[in-house]
Amino acid sequence: MNARTPLVAPVAGLPRPARPSLCVVVPVHNEIDVLPLFLERLGAVLTMLPVVPEILFVDDGSRDGSLAWIERAAVTDSRIGLLQLSRNFGKEAAMTAGLDHAEAEVVVVMDADLQDPPEQLPRMLDAWFQGNDVIVMKRRSRNGDSPGKRIAAAAYYRLLARVGEIPIPVDVGDFRLMSRRAVLALRTLPERNRYMKGLFAWIGMPQVQLEFERPARAAGNTRWPLMKLIGLAADGLTSFSVLPLRFAGVAGMLAACFALVMALVYAGKTVLFGESVDGFPTLIVSIFFIGGLQLCGLGILGEYVGRIYTEVKQRPLYLRQSYRPARQQSDRLER
Ligand code: UDP
Ligand code: MG
Repeated sequence: MNARTPLVAPVAGLPRPARPSLCVVVPVHNEIDVLPLFLERLGAVLTMLPVVPEILFVDDGSRDGSLAWIERAAVTDSRIGLLQLSRNFGKEAAMTAGLDHAEAEVVVVMDADLQDPPEQLPRMLDAWFQGNDVIVMKRRSRNGDSPGKRIAAAAYYRLLARVGEIPIPVDVGDFRLMSRRAVLALRTLPERNRYMKGLFAWIGMPQVQLEFERPARAAGNTRWPLMKLIGLAADGLTSFSVLPLRFAGVAGMLAACFALVMALVYAGKTVLFGESVDGFPTLIVSIFFIGGLQLCGLGILGEYVGRIYTEVKQRPLYLRQSYRPARQQSDRLER
């Protein structure tokens, strides 16, 4: 598979096949507690849909037996495919890996913890049948998130919407449905810092948002500690905006102007009125002020330089340990 060839997009608006193949990509990291229930609920929904279904689990370095469980489930359920990464690469990489391997006409990305209810699939598929390429699921509420996380998320999304170069929809996660065309477009984006929400938005194409009630995690704990969330937020800002850099420049300029005015004031006082200026407090304040500004600017610059560094290293986003497509799919490919 060559994921980075230039994109030849099939024509939009072509009639949809009556029974498309549908692949649900599920990144999994230590989800043994919810996997049985997840498969039960997703499986039940898939049987009702007019699709040829496939469930592609991407094992992102689980250490709790999730992998063994999926392997066992795949023995009896021919819809299950398994892509195993060589270690934990993080959700963004796991999703990318899944999208690189999903060859179905319709691809859905869904969390394993049942926060993305499989029961939404019929609505999403309907929207696809109506000719949309990307169906984005917007959270009506954030049950299960702490008030602090809710406020931070709201503020962050609004900041991103204001400074970003392309509009990134507010309050949406990674839960979405994509046509093959959209998946192929995503594969052409080579960047290492994968802020998926932004990349999904960047490709454009006919998109709709559907609202849904996001429930709390079915079991287990969130795998996103605060520091990782902050990192993700910084990724989002720096990947889609250079405004922080400009901000650092403007702040520096303002500080310099302020210093100039102060200098004139003190010079005037001395020359005109012969006042001797008490130097120490002003000196110490201005040194700290300028020093702080400089460090701030350097820090912002560093955020970008660090990301350029990871880009130029050109390391792969993930390493594959093994890949077993769903038997149902390999049967189809052989035929
Ligand atoms: N996940 C993953 N790799 C990671 C962390 C999470 O594949 O390093 C998966 C996880 O198994 C789940 C999904 O990403 O299916 C969402 O994770 P989580 O529920 O912890 O995130 P939240 O819902 O709190 O944003
Ligand atoms: Mg979750």
